[in-house]
Amino acid sequence: MIPWVPTSNKPLLIPLIDLHCHSTVSDGTLTPTELVGHAATLGVGVLALTDHDDVAGLDDARRAAEGAGIALVNGVEISVTWGSRTIHLVGLRIDPAGAALYDGLARIRESRVGRAERIAAELDKAGIHGSLEGAYEFAEGGIIGRTHFARFLVSRGHAKDIRTVFKKFLVKGKPGHVSHRWAELGEAVEWIRSAGGIAVLAHPGRYDMGRTTLENLLAEFKEAGGTAIEVISGSHSLDMNRHMAEVAVRHGFLASRGSDYHGPDQSYFGMDKLPPLPLTCTPVWHDWHDLKMFMADSHEGFPHPCPLPAPAAGVLAGCPTLCGDHGGMGEGDEVSLRDCRYNPLAPAA
Ligand code: AMP
Ligand code: MN
Ligand code: MN
Ligand code: MN
Repeated sequence: MIPWVPTSNKPLLIPLIDLHCHSTVSDGTLTPTELVGHAATLGVGVLALTDHDDVAGLDDARRAAEGAGIALVNGVEISVTWGSRTIHLVGLRIDPAGAALYDGLARIRESRVGRAERIAAELDKAGIHGSLEGAYEFAEGGIIGRTHFARFLVSRGHAKDIRTVFKKFLVKGKPGHVSHRWAELGEAVEWIRSAGGIAVLAHPGRYDMGRTTLENLLAEFKEAGGTAIEVISGSHSLDMNRHMAEVAVRHGFLASRGSDYHGPDQSYFGMDKLPPLPLTCTPVWHDWHDLKMFMADSHEGFPHPCPLPAPAAGVLAGCPTLCGDHGGMGEGDEVSLRDCRYNPLAPAA
C-alpha cells in the first residue's frame, strides 16, 4: 500500500485529477517519466498524458505511474482544422494501438515536418535564419511544433519569453506564420471513439470565436460523437472556466479538468493550482469505476473522511470525486452533497 502522503507539506484532502498535460514527446519540457514524478510530488492521483498528435510517451508514463501509485489515463491531444480555425481535441482512455487513431496521428505528425519547413522559410524571409535546425534541437526527437520555434526565437533574443513570441511571431499576420490543414473534426472524433476513447473539446474558452460560432462548434462536435468539454483548464482564465461550466450544463456535455502543463517555467497553471470542477457539472470521470477501485486498493486511508464541515445543501449530477462511495450510481441519479464523504468542492470553511 502506498501511503497517501505527497511530499508537499500541505495537508491533502483529495487526490488531484489532471487530464491534460504534455511531455517531451510533444512540446513539454519534462520526459514522460519526469512528468509523472512531478505529478506524484504534487499529490496527483489520476493523470492523463495528452501529448500533441502522439502516444509515444504512454508506455514510459505508465511504468513511472505504477511506481508512484498514480492511475495513468491514456490520452492524446489531436490538432484539428474546423473551418479555417485550429482547434484541439483531447482523447481520453484511448487504446493507443487503435489502428485508425494510430494511422491518423502518424499522418498528422508527417504533415508537421513539411509545415516546419514552411515556417522556417517564412522566418528566413524575415531575416531569421537557422530556425529549422534550431527548432529541431529544442524538439529533442519529439514531434516538431511552433513551441520549438518559439524556444529557438527566445534563445536568439527575438523575444523575451514564449508568450511574447506568440504575439510577435508564428501567428496570423506575423513573421513565421503559415496556414495548415490538420485533421477534420469528424475524423478525429471517430479515431478517438474507434480506439475506445472519450472525445473532449480542449480549452474551448481559448478559441477567440464569437458566441454563435462557438455554439456551432459545440453542436457539430456533439453531432460527431463528442461527449465532453474541458471546463477547467490551465489555459483558461477564471472567467472562461465559469463560462464553460455553464456551456457544459446547457449542452449536456461531461466536464473535464486539465492543467495543460508543459513543464516548469512554461507559464501554465501548476497541476496543484487548478480550481475544482463546479458542482453543477458532471465530471467526465463520474463512471470510471476502475480508477476509483485502483485508488481505494492502492492508497492506504483512501478515501479520507469528508472535508465538509456540515451537511450542505444541493445535489450533484454525479459524484465529482474518486471516493468510491457512489460507485453504483447510474446516469441521472442524484446524490445529495452531504452523502459524499469526499467532496473536494465544499465551500471554504
Ligand atoms: P502547434 O500545434 O505546433 O501549432 O503548437 C501549438 C502549441 O503552441 C500549443 O499547444 C501551445 O503549447 C503553444 N502556444 C500556442 N499559443 C501560445 C501562447 N499564446 N502562449 C504560449 N504557448 C502557446
Ligand atoms: Mn502545446
Ligand atoms: Mn491545446
Ligand atoms: Mn495541450
